[in-house]
Amino acid sequence: MGQFERVCYDCGAQQKDRGYTEFCDTCGDGLIGYQYPKANLDNIRSKNANIPHFFQLHRVLPFDTDFESDKNSFDPKLDPVGVIEAEALEQELFPNGEAKIHLADSTRRGGTNSLKDPDAIVILYRLHELGAQGFALASTGDCGASMCYIGSQLGMDIHLFVPEDCYDRWLPLENEIREAGLIDDKKIHIYKQGENMHDAYEIARKFGEENGLPHDFFFNNQLRIEGSKTIHIEVMEHLGRSPDVYVQALGSGTGLFAMHKACDDLGLPMPQLVGVQPEGCSPMARAAQGKPLQEKADTYVMGIGLPQLGPCFKYLKALGTKFLSVHEGGKAAEKGGIEEAIGVLRDAGIPNPGLEASLTVKGVRKIAPEIRDKAEKEGRTLAVVLGITGALREGDRQSLRN
Ligand SMILES: [Zn+2]
Repeated sequence: MGQFERVCYDCGAQQKDRGYTEFCDTCGDGLIGYQYPKANLDNIRSKNANIPHFFQLHRVLPFDTDFESDKNSFDPKLDPVGVIEAEALEQELFPNGEAKIHLADSTRRGGTNSLKDPDAIVILYRLHELGAQGFALASTGDCGASMCYIGSQLGMDIHLFVPEDCYDRWLPLENEIREAGLIDDKKIHIYKQGENMHDAYEIARKFGEENGLPHDFFFNNQLRIEGSKTIHIEVMEHLGRSPDVYVQALGSGTGLFAMHKACDDLGLPMPQLVGVQPEGCSPMARAAQGKPLQEKADTYVMGIGLPQLGPCFKYLKALGTKFLSVHEGGKAAEKGGIEEAIGVLRDAGIPNPGLEASLTVKGVRKIAPEIRDKAEKEGRTLAVVLGITGALREGDRQSLRN
């Protein structure tokens, strides 16, 4: 309980204010990470069965609540992350047993069935502890749904700004979570504003500032990393170790960076990080190759359809991340590839994988020769984890049909 510090990634200064701040108060623009007394896989999870599964990881979460002795009334009711062995894909890529492929399945945990639920729990629960009454953010989909869901449970007002270019995708998702009874209409305020995600973010930020509400700053919001890392910790609990290779679709980069954070908290070796983007919207893959950025997203995978290069890039680069682009040819060409890759995951036993998950299948195929070489050189079977980050949404299904 309360055993955390906030430390700047850039200058190493300890931040005195443990509130919700974007940048380091010493160097001005450094990221403010959270640090805990070192833990390991054996002691990371509380054995106290009265604590909800998610909060059993409180030793490495940024809360002041004393979960061991307080009666915590908030239970986010999130099932454990599923870990599934992708045997057919393994046979295809590693026929001599060079690697095992594990799918980290966030699509069936309850709630809104995406990896954004853990992020929303950590961000909003912490803000709730700090006395915030509400929260402002922009989103094109999963993140907004998670914030509406968790905000409703905590009784916080959520002001969500959805850009026009994603509104058709958002609306069916809003209907879905509304029909499932996941949101409290009195607490959830949704605005269709801004042409694209970039505009919507600026509008949300301004709204938050004008109304005295905390707002989201994505990768710079390190509470997000603390939420995402819980997924990786659960996978490592399953494997008994950290993976050798971790592959995930790359949007803001939070999920990949969170793997580094999970390994750091646990004192475990960090896997090779592999971030995959659709070629029609691949700012990080392009920047890594010195190519100019694209002006507009040209992809069906709109959950990560931001052509701007986010602040996470320099941190992922410093961690030796491999940046790949797949689904070549943009929207006009990518439909068949998406459907085939999603089919591979369905056959492996995930009934409804989202568009982003298709990138991990294409990505692991692309780097399989390197993985085989490494396994041969080291004479051992490597553990490869693919992040299956969210369920297929009705809006995506519709756009694939059109
Ligand atoms: Zn600093």
